[in-house]
Parts: sequence; C-alpha cells; structure tokens
Amino acid sequence: MKALIRGGTIVTDEASFAGDVLIRDGVILKVAERIDAPDAAVVDAAGKLVLPGAVDIHTHMDLDVGIARVIDDFFTGTVAAACGGTTTIVDHMAFGPVGCSPWHQVKAYHRLADGVAAVDYGFHGVLQHVDDSVLDDMAQIAAQEGITSFKAYMTYDGRLDDLALMRVLERAAQEGILIAVHCENHGIVTCLRERFVREGKTQARWHPVSRPAVAEAEAVNRLLCLARAAGDAPVYVVHLSTRMGLEAIRRARANGQRHFGAETCPQYLLLDEALYGDPREGLKAIMAPPLRRQADRDALWDALSGDELDTVATDHCPFTFARQKQQGAADFTRCPSGAPGVEERLALLYSEGVAKGRLTLPQLVKYACANPARVAGLYPRKGAIVEGADADLVIFDPQRKWTLTTAALHGNADYTCYEGMKVVGRVERVLLRGKTIVRNGAFVGARGDGQYLRREKSSLA
Ligand code: MN
Repeated sequence: MKALIRGGTIVTDEASFAGDVLIRDGVILKVAERIDAPDAAVVDAAGKLVLPGAVDIHTHMDLDVGIARVIDDFFTGTVAAACGGTTTIVDHMAFGPVGCSPWHQVKAYHRLADGVAAVDYGFHGVLQHVDDSVLDDMAQIAAQEGITSFKAYMTYDGRLDDLALMRVLERAAQEGILIAVHCENHGIVTCLRERFVREGKTQARWHPVSRPAVAEAEAVNRLLCLARAAGDAPVYVVHLSTRMGLEAIRRARANGQRHFGAETCPQYLLLDEALYGDPREGLKAIMAPPLRRQADRDALWDALSGDELDTVATDHCPFTFARQKQQGAADFTRCPSGAPGVEERLALLYSEGVAKGRLTLPQLVKYACANPARVAGLYPRKGAIVEGADADLVIFDPQRKWTLTTAALHGNADYTCYEGMKVVGRVERVLLRGKTIVRNGAFVGARGDGQYLRREKSSLA
C-alpha cells in the first residue's frame, strides 16, 4: 500500500519547503520536491501544511485522583488528541496504592490503554516513595518496558523530599532515565491553603494566591540544584508557568548544567488568572500550577521564541464542569484539579503563535512534534518527516478560520477553557502509520488503532 501526499508545504523543525511525501506500509519511504509514484494513492495537499503527527508528552487519560476520575479514557481522550493532530501521547500515571511498587501502575495502565487507545501511546512511570527496591524496579521497568522516564512530585501526598529525590536522581543519572518533576513547594502551598480555608477565603480567586509564583520558582531551582549535585542527572520540569521559574532555568543553563529540559502548556501562554474572578466559571480553570499574569505569559512566549524552552504539552486532565468541578463550588480546595486541552494545542499554537508572528513554522513543529519526541526517546520514529519514520502526518489548513467551542471538540469534557475563541488554521486530515484516522476534521479511525511505544533513552539523558 503506497500513498503520495502531493504538493503541500512540508514543515520540519528546521525548515519548511514545497514537496511530496511517499508512504509505504505505514512508514515514510521518501521526501522530495517532486515524487512520481503512479502506483500510489494520491492525497492532494496543495495549499496545506504537512506536519509530523504531533506528540503530547503530558496527558492524564483515565486518571483517578481519589476525589474524582477524569472523564476521558484512553479511547475518548485519544480520539480528541487525533482530531487535534496529535498521533502520539505519553501519559502520566496516577499514584497507586500507598507503598506499591512502580510495577503496579505500569500493569494497571496497560489494562487501561492496550486495545483501547486510538493513537500511539507510552507511559511515564510514577514514583511515590523511594527505597532500594523501588529504584531497582525503576531500572527494570526502563529496560523491560521501554519506560525511560519517571515522574516525581514535590507536592501532594505522594511527594518526594530532597533525600528521596537525591536517591532517585543519582540512580537516574547512572541508568540514563529522565525524571519529570511537578515543581511546587509543598510547605508554601499547604500553609496558604490551610490558612485561606480557616479564614473563609474559599472562592476560586484564592486558588492562584495559594500557589504563588515563588512556590514554583523555589521548587524549580531546588530540583535543578539537586540534579546538579547528583552529577547533572537528567530532569524535565513539567508545566512551567512563571517568569520566576523560567529565571531558575536560565540560571542553570548559564551555570553550565546540560541535562535538563522544560515544558510549558497552552493555558500558561494564553489564559489569565483573571478567570478565577468569577466564583463559578473560575472552577473550570482550577489546575496546578494555576493560571498566571500577563507578565508571566509574555516571558514564556519570549522563551519559546528564543528557543529557551523544550516542549509545549497539554496536561490534559478533564473533569465535568456540570458535576465534578462543582465539588469546589463552596471551597476551591475540594475542586478536582485539571482541565481539558489535548485537542486544542496545535490550533492554538498555530493561531496564537505562528499566525501572530510569535513562533516560526519550524518552531511550531519543534515544540509540538520533534522535541517532545526527542525528550520521550521516540525521535526520529515520531515527530519527524524523514525516510524511515512512522507515517504519522497532519494535513493542516493554515487559512481556515473557525471558533473553538465545546461542540466542535471531541473529548468528553462539557467545556473548553477557550470557548468562543476565534482561531485560524485547522487540522484537516491525520494519518497514523499511514492510515487516515481523521478526515475533514472528523475521526474515522478505530478503538485500538494505537500501539504501545517502547521508548529509547531521552535526548536529555
Ligand atoms: Mn499533569
């Protein structure tokens, strides 16, 4: 089975150029200015962009947070991903039962995703306590499962303290395993939340005040210092949201530290903490870290445009506004934390980034496709339009104007944080290993089309 994507503008993380892409048996066979293949089915891409299938390395499908379970499972969530041009996800696991081995969640997540996901998928492991057997399991899981990254939290009940983090980082440096970290100072956040509840400051507007920028900046700085002390251990800061946190990243780079990376998300680039001013609507955007201020957004855009960050992921973590988010109606600390976003990313980055002159087309591909694949140890099989790569491709119409609405999206969430936002550029067709899974913006793939991805070592390791 051959297919020829003809006459589009091919975009890689280095350049964009007019050309054709020839696919055979799910793999890219050839990329050239002009390809003649009379035996191939032709897909006309004239006037369209041809992008690598996007890679989202921060999602939470089917996540159980104890007080609520997200409403997208590995099928509905990956249908939404596909319709947004994302053909690969790497999902962050929930914590397992207290004291369990990291293997517990690896097995649980295979049960949730295998035969269910509609795009290709991998998992980050999760660390919730540390001892010798956990560290041995981490190395064994990396080798046997191709799970070459693990997540640790500096806040929440499953958090690791500095000593536990040091033990993890020393082992990670030895084994070439990437440690992704949720960076917020637990003492700051807990103290403020407890006091606000005591003082009756329980409306949504107190949420961002309870998780201030300095809580992120302190934790980012501390993580990078610990990683340096552990021998430049490979670490990845997830969902960076503040200018102060960015300054810690810049300092580490200036000091010669090399094995680290940082991710931000569309919500931290585009949404404002003013959303929390409405006590009811504000619940939609209760997430950690919270939305920030204009100065933070400007700093993050500057960092993207200056190639100082590594990736843009979504932290897709959808709860229903009608029911689940209302658990926080009287007290924001009881609101399940997270918001949908897996489908909106590419359209938002194109419309608000490329079309507004903040990002170049190659930077769009770098942040949404190539670098996430590199960080996850999937490059160039994913995130690249080169001979031998998986034929994961997005045909993107850069002219098409549309409005982001809940009805236009495909996940199970009953809201989008971008409701009513006018955007330019839309995903038209998506190929997963050569198979069309989205046509004219509609999902035409199947449950179980996605394959489990064993990952190589991260580019940061
Ligand atoms: Mn997350």
